[in-house]
Amino acid sequence: MSSPVENVVIVGTGCAGLTAAIYTARANLTPLVLEGVQPGGQLTTTSEVENFPGFPEGVDGFMLMDNLRKQAARFGARFESGLVESVDFGSMPRVLKLSDREIRTKAVIIATGASPRMTGVPGEKELFGGKGVTTCATCDGAFYRNMEVIVIGGGDSAAEEALFLTRFASKVRLVHRRNELRASKIMADRVLEHPKVEPVWDTVPVEVLGVGEGGVSGMRVKNVKTGEESVIPAKGVFVAIGHEPNTRPFRSAIDVDDKGYFLPVNGSQVKTRVPGIYVAGDCADHVYRQAITAAGMGCQAAIEAERWLAEHGG
Ligand code: NAP
Repeated sequence: MSSPVENVVIVGTGCAGLTAAIYTARANLTPLVLEGVQPGGQLTTTSEVENFPGFPEGVDGFMLMDNLRKQAARFGARFESGLVESVDFGSMPRVLKLSDREIRTKAVIIATGASPRMTGVPGEKELFGGKGVTTCATCDGAFYRNMEVIVIGGGDSAAEEALFLTRFASKVRLVHRRNELRASKIMADRVLEHPKVEPVWDTVPVEVLGVGEGGVSGMRVKNVKTGEESVIPAKGVFVAIGHEPNTRPFRSAIDVDDKGYFLPVNGSQVKTRVPGIYVAGDCADHVYRQAITAAGMGCQAAIEAERWLAEHGG
């Protein structure tokens, strides 16, 4: 017997997905919300969120996401674990294919977020998470008080991470593969003028050191111009080389840009060219990437889905 057809399935439980869940649940659509490998999304790895409106003293990231989830559940959102592996949006109902089942639905809101990109050098994976390699200065910077740290990357994220780390670390070495930053001029000037920041130009990571000791002790690097290798001592390595949007399972049906972010149709942030399919949050936004902008897109997608279902038999 085939499963019933859902009104709307929301894929992802970050700020965008959970806000969409609150709105669609409150509209009596009893949305099915699919939780992936990181329930609650990127904010669950942040201790203090100081810029989400409405919290003058800041709010714990995990608590904020837990509250959004409870709010959605209160209005009837249903949660299930599951990773979408591929889709069939060519006919109605739309089909989401998971490893162990298929879900049929009239509308879909894709809010799968983006994952931090990693360099892939030896030692990085082994020392990730609590052992010195991280992708979030805001989350982990305070652990490196009076220590030397490395930031890898040359974009706005790397500049921002490096500047944030100057509050704690004794020295921040900014390892970049070229000899100029990609970051905006204001951020680049600010970071390069900071007395605690030392740029290491034309340099790529070769290996994160410290696997044997169970914690980062430094990084072997290579100068791409001379080929010379050296070791930079450090207790922390902050990888800030951009993000990878989690859009792969949907690319057969939904347009993406050259970096893999969903491309909504002209004039909308959330509508795709497939009727009833919407996108929201970091999987469709490489510019703002804020909790509040993701939540805003989740709200827009939910309202669009609700209107579309009203017109097409929701
Ligand atoms: P990004 O702009 O794509 O920069 C990624 C950086 O990592 C680049 O400098 C790149 O080098 C380097 N890189 C990429 N792959 C690498 C690899 N495998 N090994 C070594 N280095 C590598 O990413 P982002 O900094 O995360 O920024 C993403 C977007 O968000 C941008 O539009 C940015 O302006 C925006 N943003 C804005 C703010 C702000 O305004 N406050 C803060 C953060 C992010 P190359 O330069 O050689 O390509």
